Order: sequence, then structure tokens, then C-alpha cells
Amino acid sequence: MAEQRSRREVLGAALGLTGGVLASTAGLGALDDVAAAADAAPPPQRFPKSPELALERLKAGNRRFAAGKARKPRQGTKRLVQVAEGQRPFAAILSCSDSRVPPEITFDQGLGDLFVVRIAGNTATDPFVIGSLEYAIEVVGSLVVFVLGHSECGAVKAAIDVETKGTTLPGDIGAVVQPILPAVQAVSGTTSGGLLEAATEENVKMAMESLGQVQIVADAVAAGKLLVAGGEYELATGRVDYLS
Ligand SMILES: [Zn+2]
Repeated sequence: MAEQRSRREVLGAALGLTGGVLASTAGLGALDDVAAAADAAPPPQRFPKSPELALERLKAGNRRFAAGKARKPRQGTKRLVQVAEGQRPFAAILSCSDSRVPPEITFDQGLGDLFVVRIAGNTATDPFVIGSLEYAIEVVGSLVVFVLGHSECGAVKAAIDVETKGTTLPGDIGAVVQPILPAVQAVSGTTSGGLLEAATEENVKMAMESLGQVQIVADAVAAGKLLVAGGEYELATGRVDYLS
């Protein structure tokens, strides 16, 4: 633990973080207590005790959202003031940039709950993406890294077009789509009707696998401090189907 704390402090200093994040992390129990008393409906939740409970919190939020029973928790001015002191998001989300898949809404969470990295196609090859997730794990202590793909993903569709039709994409759009091509190739035997679904699922799995090989991720998983999970969001129902 001492070594872990030390690494966090070093990283925090390197990233220009002064006491804010690190000090407030230690005092979050007290902050939650204050907010619980102040924020009537619903009260803020304590930081999950385990990665499994953190994942269950995400799942419960999505169940509420998909059932039309979203609580929109921890989004008021009390929470605003609370998280201004520092953040400790319980989960990091790697999701597509698609406007229909905003993680805070689809998982029914509030300010300071999720550390979200969004990139079209939710791929985990760009060092800025990986580094952002490493930050969530190593510095702010998120307990879950969740890769969230979705149905009818334009980036996956574009990758299929590039792979099967040789389509050329303008500007840097091709660079965004390129990391999805291995997923398309891996399921290329799939019938055309199911190719998009198969490639979308494979793309999420590949992102999970590649994140699992990142040293900071692997170390945290081995220490029981982190879960890598993934799923696909269904646009028409609002439900996430989990892959792990
Ligand atoms: Zn998408």
C-alpha cells in the first residue's frame, strides 16, 4: 500500500495535482456523510467497497435508466460544491463519442461518479486514451474500467466499409476507424446481416483485452483493486448487455 500511495503521489505531482484530489480522496467518507444529510433525494452513496460492487452500481444505474426510472442522482448544487473539493469517480468508462450514448445518463450517475473517456469506436490503442484511463486507475482510484460499445455504431460501420469495400475516409476519420479493422477482420466470416453486431462485440472485447495488457491495469487487477468489464448499449431499449 505504501508503495501504491507513493506512486500516486508521484503521479499526482507529475500531473500538476496538488492536495486537491489526493487529500480529498482520504476524506471522502466524511464528504459523503455531509452530502448525505444535505442532498435529500437520493442521498449520495459511499464509495464502493470493491470492484464488484462498483460494477453492480453501474448495472443498477442502467437498469433504472432503461426502465424509465432514472434518479438523476448527485447532480444538484450540493454535489457541485462537494466535488469541487476533489474527485473520486468509482468507475472509468471508455465509450463511443456517439451523441446517443452519454455514460452519465445511460448509467444514471451524477457529478464526480464516472471518469469518462470518449472516442468514436471506443478503441483502446491511442496513448492519450490509455493514459487517461491509467490516470483514472492510478491517481483517482477508479475500481472499474468499463468499455462501452453500442448498436448501430457509425465508426464500426465505417470500418466494415473500409474493410469490405475499400472505402476511403476523408481527413483523419480513417485514423479513428483504423483500430477497429482488426475486429472486423476477426469476424469476417460472419454473414453480412450479422457482421455489424459481431464486429461491435469483437471491438469491445479487443479493447478490454488490450487494456488488460496495460501494466497499470494488469497490476491493479492482480491486486484485486480493479475490474475490466465491457458491454454493448442497445440504442432502442437503453439496456446494456454485458460481455463479462
Ligand atoms: Zn459509435
